[in-house]
Amino acid sequence: MTSLAEHAALLAKVDAFSAAAEAAQGPWLACRRGCDGCCRLRRTAWAVEVDAVRAHVQTLPPARQAELAARRADPAVAAGARCVFLDADGACAVYPARPVICRTHGPVVTSAEGGLQWCDLGFVGLDVAAVAAQVDASSVLDLDRLNTVLAVVNARHLARHPGPARLPLDAALEDSP
Ligand code: SF4
Repeated sequence: MTSLAEHAALLAKVDAFSAAAEAAQGPWLACRRGCDGCCRLRRTAWAVEVDAVRAHVQTLPPARQAELAARRADPAVAAGARCVFLDADGACAVYPARPVICRTHGPVVTSAEGGLQWCDLGFVGLDVAAVAAQVDASSVLDLDRLNTVLAVVNARHLARHPGPARLPLDAALEDSP
């Protein structure tokens, strides 16, 4: 199995978990197409994720690829105030290939360092104790476990495609080294 195929298999598991989490936490979430609060930054990602986005971009029509490449000069993108892949209507131009962080932002997740955390637009008016009482623990993603697996997949990818472990997501618009 190639490292990109390994990464795709991981994404499928993440999507399945995220769908279950959204179903369980849905009434409290603000996530929907066009809600782009988590896209208003210059996102970085693991190398395997950047290469997966690059592979996806290369499947798009040439005119769309050119449009995305030109966006790197957009003042807001250049200033790091929005992701280069954020379309004007709030959609993601690389949605099928977006990184794990984009797939998991919104519902309640947990980590050793941050404890329970969620998008500020969701669970409005609730504190941590109230959120913990509202959500089924089985719907809470363990970020530490996920990041450990992702780091392993990334390390295998780097063994075949040496380079920085993480880089800006807009590097996906450059030819691979
Ligand atoms: S890759 Fe897509 S979902 Fe992720 S920050 Fe960029 S526009 Fe948003």
